[in-house]
Amino acid sequence: MRVLLVEDDPMIGEAVKRGLGLEGFAVDWVQDGRQAELAIANGVYELVLLDLGLPRKDGLALLKELRRRGIAVPVLVATARDALSDRIEGLNAGADDYLVKPFHLEELVARVRALLRRNQGRANPEIECGALRLNPVTHQALLRGTPIELSAKEFALLHALVEKPGAVLSREQLEEKLYGWGDEVGSNAVEVHIHNLRRKLGADAIRNIRGVGYRVETVE
Ligand code: CA
Repeated sequence: MRVLLVEDDPMIGEAVKRGLGLEGFAVDWVQDGRQAELAIANGVYELVLLDLGLPRKDGLALLKELRRRGIAVPVLVATARDALSDRIEGLNAGADDYLVKPFHLEELVARVRALLRRNQGRANPEIECGALRLNPVTHQALLRGTPIELSAKEFALLHALVEKPGAVLSREQLEEKLYGWGDEVGSNAVEVHIHNLRRKLGADAIRNIRGVGYRVETVE
């Protein structure tokens, strides 16, 4: 899950990037509205975490602009402006949810997950794929009812693959979901994670569609 963090306060930015990173999100961090606009245009983000008071382009102006251009990426507004009128204006401008600063990291993570779930049309946090069950909230994976140990990246990769059953994701798409800017990515990082997942789930769990990418079929 790749998230764009738009925040000009270095302390909050650091803390949120680290906190979301520990939860297995790939986080890119920009510190002004103009950079945010350019980053969002790449279209790789599943969610944007947006501060409103920003240099170069105000968060609210940016949000209105995105929606006007038909960009539907979920936006969670996090702002110190706790006046009711600002929150209402944010929601009317196309924000999907908001958080008032200061907020607890746990609440931020919970809201991010809820928003991603809602965006995928799921009310239940658990994802089922045959004998495999994933819970993105607890990071627990069960295979035929037995917990399996997965690293944060293995979990994120598997999550990406089972989210849309039957969908084929290329190595590049998986890298985009797993790694943010400046993350060390070995040239075969995705292959290594796939190899480890096959070892844990069974060799047939993840199919390699030659020249296209990877797909999870129903895990037996
Ligand atoms: Ca700010």
